[in-house]
Amino acid sequence: MKKTKITGRFVIGHDGNDHVVYKNGEVVFRGDTIIFVGHDFPLEVDEVIDAGLAIVSPGFIDLEADIDTDHALIDVTFPEFPQDNFIMGDKYRTTEPFSLEDFRIRQRMSIAMLIMNGITTAMPIAGDLFRGWAETHEEFEEMAKNAADLGLRMYLGPSYRAAASYGGTVDLHRGEKSLKDAFRFVEDFDGAYGGLIKGFLSPCQVPYLTEDFLKRTKEFSDANGVPVRLHACEGPHEWDYFKSKIGLTSIDYFKRIGFLGPQIMIPHTIVAKDSELKILADQGVSVISTPLAEVNIGWGLVSFTKYLNLGINMTIGTDCQPVDMIRNMRFGWDLARLLEYRQIYNIYTETGEVLNPYKDQPTLYRTAKATTAADFFRAATTGGAKALGRDDLGRLSPGAKADIIVIDLDDLRVGPYEDPIRTMIMSTTGYNVRDVIINGRIVMKDRVIPDVKPNELLKQGQEVYDKFLNLYTEYDAYHRPLDTFFPQSFVTVEKKTKR
Ligand SMILES: [Zn+2]
Repeated sequence: MKKTKITGRFVIGHDGNDHVVYKNGEVVFRGDTIIFVGHDFPLEVDEVIDAGLAIVSPGFIDLEADIDTDHALIDVTFPEFPQDNFIMGDKYRTTEPFSLEDFRIRQRMSIAMLIMNGITTAMPIAGDLFRGWAETHEEFEEMAKNAADLGLRMYLGPSYRAAASYGGTVDLHRGEKSLKDAFRFVEDFDGAYGGLIKGFLSPCQVPYLTEDFLKRTKEFSDANGVPVRLHACEGPHEWDYFKSKIGLTSIDYFKRIGFLGPQIMIPHTIVAKDSELKILADQGVSVISTPLAEVNIGWGLVSFTKYLNLGINMTIGTDCQPVDMIRNMRFGWDLARLLEYRQIYNIYTETGEVLNPYKDQPTLYRTAKATTAADFFRAATTGGAKALGRDDLGRLSPGAKADIIVIDLDDLRVGPYEDPIRTMIMSTTGYNVRDVIINGRIVMKDRVIPDVKPNELLKQGQEVYDKFLNLYTEYDAYHRPLDTFFPQSFVTVEKKTKR
């Protein structure tokens, strides 16, 4: 089998305990597996790729990988007045508006975007506002095919639900079918395409489920060693739902029904009691923080620092556009620092006093260990791997999968460098990812993905996106025009067409 060596100014290896930076280092892989990281590999190799002034890093693991490019772009847009909010009409969950070809196009576009941003393992997430019911076995078969074709490592599983709406009436006929489809998908595809595709379970939020669905999810996960991702602790509406319908808040409820464990990952986890966070740490549950997606809708995790210090396994998901893990690490770290130091002076009085509204709040965040760039880099790599129960991902070390990215520093846009991880997070974005290798296959070279025609894919993707946007008018109770919900930044004047 062919041996390939990559050399570069900074090679981020792993010594079994933590990441290690090898300056002017090298990483060697044979087939799909890394066989050496460090200096002076003693044997002959078949090919040498010199990355030059660059960071050679493990690829990122994105456990909330935006796969539909839809909701993520408009999440930041709020109408001027509350009465202009979109109101779902009676078309809700009656028909499926998207064709298999629509799914194929947006999957290929999203997979290409993930690869271009250095994401080498992705667990997809998509909006489901207009979906007929939930995601389907058929569209996920298509996704597995597209992922394998372009070379992305993916954890796949269609979503399932028991009720059409949040806390609505349970429809066991449609619900059971979606649950069984999801289990069947994992049975059919776990380990497919040479192990590139793995299964996971993706139940919708609790208000769409029954307790029986949750228990069967956990049973299937335990019996088959399959990870589960369940959105929870997302905001005050969920808090109120749990308290009024169940009598317990989310994590306490999960503990009572025996749902928690190391195979469970919970995206966002913004609203939880400290005692519940300790339960997550004790039970080995992973949190998927999505810094940019959360702030898009005006949320924020308070705080990444606190969760880390409690011993929770923290991971990062992109969950918005662009699917840029580096920008997410940057914003996550920015937000954590802001909350750690709380130097937020927003009140300047007429008498010359400056008031910090957070001055008298408990100093938990300031006395705890402050976060570093390394914490966010770990979350994007080994944290994600731990959540998946994989010690062969998220690291460059002998025996690990050859999932390697090259981040170019030889670029005036980056400017000078110092510590490579800090420089990556502070001065680069996904655009600086130049080469991507997944499972030993070069899937992007000099920012080009073979078999992807960017212009054609963009044109097709835009058409599907426009179709999605127009569904707001079609599904709205009053069929109001799109700019009611998503007002343009400025008055927009169309070019007149000549007759
Ligand atoms: Zn989410």
